[in-house]
Amino acid sequence: MLRRTFLYLSSSRSLRHWMENSSISRRLTSRFIAGRTLEEGIQVVKRLDGEHILSTLDFLGENVTSLAEAAHSKNSYLQALEEIERAALPATVSIKLTQFGLDFSEQACCDNVVPLVECARRMNSRVEIDMESSDYTDRTLNVVTSLHDRFPGHIRAVIQAYLYRSEADIKMLSAKGIPVRLCKGAYSEPSTVAFPNKADVDANYVALMKLLLTQGTYPAIASHDEKIVREGLRFIEEQKIASDRFEFQMLYGIRRDLQRELVARNFRLRLYVPYGDAWYPYFMRRLAERPANVLFLARNLLRN
Ligand SMILES: Cc1cc2nc3c(=O)[nH]c(=O)nc-3n(C[C@H](O)[C@H](O)[C@H](O)COP(=O)(O)OP(=O)(O)OC[C@H]3O[C@@H](n4cnc5c(N)ncnc54)[C@H](O)[C@@H]3O)c2cc1C
Repeated sequence: MLRRTFLYLSSSRSLRHWMENSSISRRLTSRFIAGRTLEEGIQVVKRLDGEHILSTLDFLGENVTSLAEAAHSKNSYLQALEEIERAALPATVSIKLTQFGLDFSEQACCDNVVPLVECARRMNSRVEIDMESSDYTDRTLNVVTSLHDRFPGHIRAVIQAYLYRSEADIKMLSAKGIPVRLCKGAYSEPSTVAFPNKADVDANYVALMKLLLTQGTYPAIASHDEKIVREGLRFIEEQKIASDRFEFQMLYGIRRDLQRELVARNFRLRLYVPYGDAWYPYFMRRLAERPANVLFLARNLLRN
């Protein structure tokens, strides 16, 4: 119920405007958002590098309303890649295709993303393509596969374990050698396309994780669910999978204890590091995932 309420509020324009412009917003969001500027995002990536943690930088934004805004997203990400290269940081970038014009056309979107992937290829890095709501799954996978055909090794797809279709999508992507980040899924989806019960999503996650670890190409296990992470570790040990064949991924600011444990055990961990002014939908999805975050927020609000 709370999850649905926060996901509903995540698309409220008036609340978004008020919150993004509120003077207390930085205090409220600093646990999950690296900063408002690229410079602040890069500072966090540098600090994580010092802690042996890899990063993927996300310039916050989604669903642009004009191709000019899409071009702005492209330029912002090109600057991010330049800064990553200049500081020789172990970071990729993560993008949302609706930020690059997917609502206009697949072609326009592809044209905006290609310069980024060219830049990532030159740097021997990757562009990770986030998965949005199920309205976009087919179009996102079309763009992912066509970019992979042109730039093999420099694209990563994201698959959501809550969708019924995901096993078939993973098999298709693995057959093409496309790396996959596996997450549970963060949007409000109808039961016609997604498992409505969390237990089923979790069980599907475990099955898909094992499929990726045995048949995928350098998968990313993206979850903070301790039971799932521990089952992944058990499976990796049982199957004797080398630790350079996969990575764990988590979101900046979430389950820092588990993050530290994985790094101490010499597993690769990449954090998703969001920065920028358009933080509202991302932030609301994080609240939806964990009602306890609302208490954390309230405590911060009351603190002087
Ligand atoms: C690196 C990365 C990239 C992602 N990319 C995408 C994407 O492209 N598309 C997409 O739909 N989703 C994406 N997600 C979000 C994902 O789908 C889930 O919504 C989110 O990760 C929560 O699921 P979970 O696996 O952590 O399990 P959950 O069952 O939700 O949580 C397990 C435990 O993790 C901790 N936890 C989880 N979320 C929070 C939170 N917000 N605050 C505090 N603690 C929390 C709690 O201890 C909780 O009990 C991504 C997640 C990660 C880690």
